[in-house]
Amino acid sequence: MVDNAATPTSAVQNDFTTTVGALRTQVADFVAARDWSGFHSPKNLAMSIAIEAAEIMEHFQWYTAAESAERMQDEALRAEMADEVADVIIYCLSLANSTGMDVSHAVRTKLARNEGRFPVERVRGKLG
Ligand SMILES: [Mg+2]
Repeated sequence: MVDNAATPTSAVQNDFTTTVGALRTQVADFVAARDWSGFHSPKNLAMSIAIEAAEIMEHFQWYTAAESAERMQDEALRAEMADEVADVIIYCLSLANSTGMDVSHAVRTKLARNEGRFPVERVRGKLG
């Protein structure tokens, strides 16, 4: 098995056993150890999230939707994509840390709002 960001190396530490809080603490510890909290302003983090999201898009620039799905079968590309996804999530978690935002509450609140905006019976199989 290749050791890369796309493949968990431990069956114990994966998405279903790791809490958002644990990841937030790990990011906060990383930032604090380097004394970077002064750089992690909401503006800088918002820009960093957008920059890292663009790095995800860069891997698909000029490809069709079908080609983009096909490209994700390549293990090296999957590892690179996982690195970029991690960058986005790390900056999002740092933004949550620096602003006191509760990510779980925000996601659940937004999903509940989207349930109302996009009722299954109206949008199933088509865009809103
Ligand atoms: Mg990156």
